[in-house]
Amino acid sequence: MGEAERGDAAPRQAVTYFCAREHRSVVPFSTEAQVPDSWDCPKCGLPASLDSDNPPPAPKIEPYKTHLAYVKERRSDKEAEDILDEALSLLRTRRKSGDIIF
Ligand SMILES: [Zn+2]
Repeated sequence: MGEAERGDAAPRQAVTYFCAREHRSVVPFSTEAQVPDSWDCPKCGLPASLDSDNPPPAPKIEPYKTHLAYVKERRSDKEAEDILDEALSLLRTRRKSGDIIF
């Protein structure tokens, strides 16, 4: 039981994880710890990986929603309306041409 047993004396490495929402999370690990390939993003809860170019895809059901994620979603209401408008007009166009949608 020497100096190495004291937590604050243990050497650390900062590992950066990337999630599908382009969050960048730096997670400190002990240099003795095995760094996992994936980590839950502390900002949104989605799985994050070490590869910034290839983050793990977001699961269809989100594990939880942070307040920040909720606020961001609210801000994109206008965008959502635009998408809805577009979808509705597309639906009307298709109806006119006689396609069966559902
Ligand atoms: Zn994230």
